[in-house]
Amino acid sequence: MKRPKLGAHVSVAGKLSNGIERAQSIGAECIQIFGASPKQWAVRGHEARDIEDFKKAREAAGIGPVYLHAAYLVNLCSPDSSSRQKSEVNLADHLKIASAIGAEGLIFHIGSGKEMPKDKALAIVVESIQRILLHVPGLAQLVIENSAGGGQKIGGNPEEIGEILSRVKSSRLKVCWDTAHAFESGIIEEYDAKRTKGMAKRLDQAFGMDALVAMHINDSKTAFNSRHDRHENIGQGHIGLEGFKVLAREKLFADAAWILEVPGFDGTGPDKKNIEILHSLFVRSR
Ligand SMILES: [Zn+2]
Repeated sequence: MKRPKLGAHVSVAGKLSNGIERAQSIGAECIQIFGASPKQWAVRGHEARDIEDFKKAREAAGIGPVYLHAAYLVNLCSPDSSSRQKSEVNLADHLKIASAIGAEGLIFHIGSGKEMPKDKALAIVVESIQRILLHVPGLAQLVIENSAGGGQKIGGNPEEIGEILSRVKSSRLKVCWDTAHAFESGIIEEYDAKRTKGMAKRLDQAFGMDALVAMHINDSKTAFNSRHDRHENIGQGHIGLEGFKVLAREKLFADAAWILEVPGFDGTGPDKKNIEILHSLFVRSR
């Protein structure tokens, strides 16, 4: 049975290559990391030696793809122009790091236009993404993640993301679909066979599955349509193990890298147990 790469967000505290060690210790085949602090505007790059070590370790471990996750501060359509500017610079800086370390791309949330009309917010986002891609050449992709909705956030539904992709017109602009955010934003009420298939088709229609490079595989601590983003360990939240079993059977999701962003059973982040649960989803009982 064809299955996606199964992995997790891992810490690179200390040095980049620690992320590869962490991945191996929990059995992650692909990873997401922070390329720089997610809580600061200022971005510090990495020493050439640190990057080399990371690339070697990654190669030796056979881990990939590698995605970076952007800073939480980023809001490409903030009504405040100076925040917008800072967001664009910050995102470009993180994308440069992705490129420098040989990561496949940078996953980010678009942000919220707040009281701004949606059309205007979308236009601002499209232009900003185009400038960033122009400013940071190379192969590294910018990957839009669906939001949990709420607060006029852009990117809570596949059609809005599709609209941005079709207007930016770059093969480097991709999508990451978060299972918990889709549930929290009211896109899917239950991951049963019918609704899951429906969601997959809706994504395909909105932006095409070729654009779906990653999925954040998270259970949800909050209820359907809560617009409140809280991740839970797989099987411990409102989506539940059965929901993820259904998700695993959907072929349209098999080419994306599956990345856990769960709290972990001991509270220290994605762990071996969550990875093992993901693997168990693909074991077919006869
Ligand atoms: Zn996510």
